[in-house]
Amino acid sequence: MRQSIPAAAGASGWPRDFSSTTTIAPNSAARDVARYLSTLQLKPGVIFSTVMNKKFRVFATCDIGEAIDLLRQRGYEVEVYQHPEAPPKSLIVDKIKSGVDGLITTLRDPIDAEVFEAGKGRLKVVAQMAVGFDNINRADANRYKIPFTHTADVLTEATAEFAFFMMGTLARKMWTAEHLTRENQWGYWHPYLPFLGDEVTGKTVAVIGTGRIGLALIKKCVGFDMNVLCYDPAYENQAFVTTIQEINDLRQARGLTREKAWIKYVPFEEALRGADFVSVHVPLLRAAESATPTFHLFNQKNLRLMKSTAYLVNTSRGPVVEEAALARALREHWIAGAALDVYEKEPLPEDSPLRDPAIADRCRLLPHFASAARITRLSTDPDKGMAGRCAQGLIDVLEGNYGGNVTKMPYVVNKEGFGA
Ligand code: NAD
Repeated sequence: MRQSIPAAAGASGWPRDFSSTTTIAPNSAARDVARYLSTLQLKPGVIFSTVMNKKFRVFATCDIGEAIDLLRQRGYEVEVYQHPEAPPKSLIVDKIKSGVDGLITTLRDPIDAEVFEAGKGRLKVVAQMAVGFDNINRADANRYKIPFTHTADVLTEATAEFAFFMMGTLARKMWTAEHLTRENQWGYWHPYLPFLGDEVTGKTVAVIGTGRIGLALIKKCVGFDMNVLCYDPAYENQAFVTTIQEINDLRQARGLTREKAWIKYVPFEEALRGADFVSVHVPLLRAAESATPTFHLFNQKNLRLMKSTAYLVNTSRGPVVEEAALARALREHWIAGAALDVYEKEPLPEDSPLRDPAIADRCRLLPHFASAARITRLSTDPDKGMAGRCAQGLIDVLEGNYGGNVTKMPYVVNKEGFGA
């Protein structure tokens, strides 16, 4: 089965409890190592791999921290693009042409037939450090029979809590209020001047896309006694809804809340019409990719369905919201506000209509930051960090873990390209 990458070796000034706790199958060598480790009083299940591998060449389009060192300790030859911005695609193609076994990417890198063609005969895996993979052409990957991996799950809670905080920041006008204080415009305490915000507690949230992050957001909303309108065209998780309703019932029965909160699946339009907050947790799917595409899902027509007092929060992908329509919706008060973490074009262009000072009080703009928490981004533990999971996905394919069966490797996305 899977060989884990070892715990982080180098000190980075962070807490040192990032250590890998991934277990490998109990073959005799592993048992020996485990016995040795137990004499060192390390956590059971932590296995340090000392196996030096065939020298794989890896190109990383950005620095993913200590996980790179771990690959090097494993004998990999790893070249990292050292600039903070994404490399030009031509450079990725050139690197691949020079002979690379594994490519580490982020959502900034367009990976398609041109890249796979350049890697023909050598490139074995693309390991993406993100859960979303709309930058990777899945059909092309399948055509060239290149598995690509992603880092689902380890960023679920971080992204969901960020979406929740965005909701609160927006509705309680925290950004505007802080500016007031900093700019010395706070002249008095007054019952309603210069402005008021809206509570989150007890309100109704529409969760669009009830996959990993959508469900995690709902769990957080429960603590705020929120009612939940769920929408997901692919799968309605009724077992989850039942559990949440049981918790809502208990909260009321035990006197933690006066009103009993509720949760239910509804059609898309009904979710938009009924919500005080709409939080978006869908993948970016274009028309050719899905019967229910998400590209420009929040367009003029759908934004007009929302209440004029409602707020939109988007931590999914930028093109899910048609920005020109949203800017108009905010200018003309079709909705009360929006908080965005992702944009049609990133970084947000200087001339974006979302930068209009006329809507600055009700439009929060974050720099694709929802997963940007220390452990979530950089822990080398594949069960905690995107970097660790990205490296593990790469290792699984290059070292032929899971008997070399790509369809059994947990982080491979395009299993259908390999007969699954
Ligand atoms: P997921 O695959 O677990 O969930 C996505 C859900 O959306 C699925 O249940 C799917 O059925 C549903 N869906 C598909 N089409 C839909 C539609 N038309 N309408 C409503 N629902 C639809 O993915 P996840 O792990 O929850 O992540 C969701 C997305 O969030 C990712 O694809 C990624 O683009 C984005 N993301 C952004 C950040 C960030 O930093 N801002 C971080 C993590 C993830």
